[in-house]
Amino acid sequence: MPPEDERARTRRYITQLNRSNRQAAAVRRPPYRRRPAPAVPHGAAGEARALPALTMDLGRRLPVGMAVLLVLPVRRGHGPGFRLRGVCCCGLPQDFSEYSRPDIALASLVARGGIPPTKVVATMRRWSQNKPDLTRWLHGRRCEHGDDLELVIWDETGYGIPWELFWLDAPPRSPHRAGWLGGLITLTRWLTVNAAWSVVREYAEPHTCAGPVAAYIAEDMRNDDRLLHAYASEGIAGVRGLPKALAAGAPLGMVYVACHGTFGSGEDDCLLGDVPLVMLEGGNSFERLASAATFVFLNACHSGQLLADEGEYADQTQRGFSELFLRSGAAGVLATSGAIGDEEAHQMADELLQLLSARPHTPIAVALRELRSTVAHLTPADLLDVEGKEEQRRLLPLLYRFMYVYYGSPRTVVTLTAREAST
Ligand SMILES: [Zn+2]
Repeated sequence: MPPEDERARTRRYITQLNRSNRQAAAVRRPPYRRRPAPAVPHGAAGEARALPALTMDLGRRLPVGMAVLLVLPVRRGHGPGFRLRGVCCCGLPQDFSEYSRPDIALASLVARGGIPPTKVVATMRRWSQNKPDLTRWLHGRRCEHGDDLELVIWDETGYGIPWELFWLDAPPRSPHRAGWLGGLITLTRWLTVNAAWSVVREYAEPHTCAGPVAAYIAEDMRNDDRLLHAYASEGIAGVRGLPKALAAGAPLGMVYVACHGTFGSGEDDCLLGDVPLVMLEGGNSFERLASAATFVFLNACHSGQLLADEGEYADQTQRGFSELFLRSGAAGVLATSGAIGDEEAHQMADELLQLLSARPHTPIAVALRELRSTVAHLTPADLLDVEGKEEQRRLLPLLYRFMYVYYGSPRTVVTLTAREAST
């Protein structure tokens, strides 16, 4: 990068820091700024870009029980759209209908100024019901592999489609019940990760995240400290300390970050704590992730959202904190696709870590499915009686469970080093 660009960036970063230092205590739930729809490059209508995703997985043999759903951005008429391709371990790739870009990102639906939770549920159900060919394919995978089915959703669009909240219908008299995908089947996400000297983990292979924990917990979230008490853990002084803390030392089983987060239209406006994404870019220097399989849990608002604009870099890749950690060698990244309440974020981490430590051979993806399963079959009809703000508010925790997105292999497990008993 030319030095003047570097200087401009540094100046922007310093302005950013000064601005955030001047602000009073940040809130974990920042107002959502709707970003403009990303432009899709000109080309023949229906031509998919993101070629690595399109071609990479068609020839490979997926492990038994695993299926990949590719979601590729296309140009549809004058606007953006997407097309879908499914491939299972046991069959040929299948292409589905093309659709226009939907406006259903949970970051905007479930937000101040968004729509009530009951309406979110109804919207997602309606949107899903208009995808009969995808529904039939997913149902076929369920019939073929039953409870062992592992679905990887490789979404290259950056549209923020909440696939965990896809309503999977079931035919009459089927032994399978209809419900929300993320609570019914084991589901993870993947995306194209560009790296010259790859430390990127295989998304179809099992990994074991073993070792101690490194954690940054923001001052007003110290309640989370007790979640890590059972494990050998080291504290990181601030988000700004992350790159240094992850650069050298013993391999890590987990990196836990609990802080505020913001999503904006560029790498300067996507913040983890008060640090913009552009300043965290570690590349291969997160040595402690590269030398181990590490589970990275970013328990901060918007931490899992992706930038897919064609602006500054115009290189058609998706950028975000989850991509950054995967590129640096993490075996799995759990992050959020919107604003989550502090209490619910704490509770989610508590339940997930308890489940993983009680059953250490349970993959992260299976644990997440279990945490969503209590509301897996909830229908709009069940919510007909819900009236008033307070009742709607009580439904939010249900939706939050589906706002956590997990990138990585469906088979990755976590075994964290226990804290040594103090003498
Ligand atoms: Zn199969």
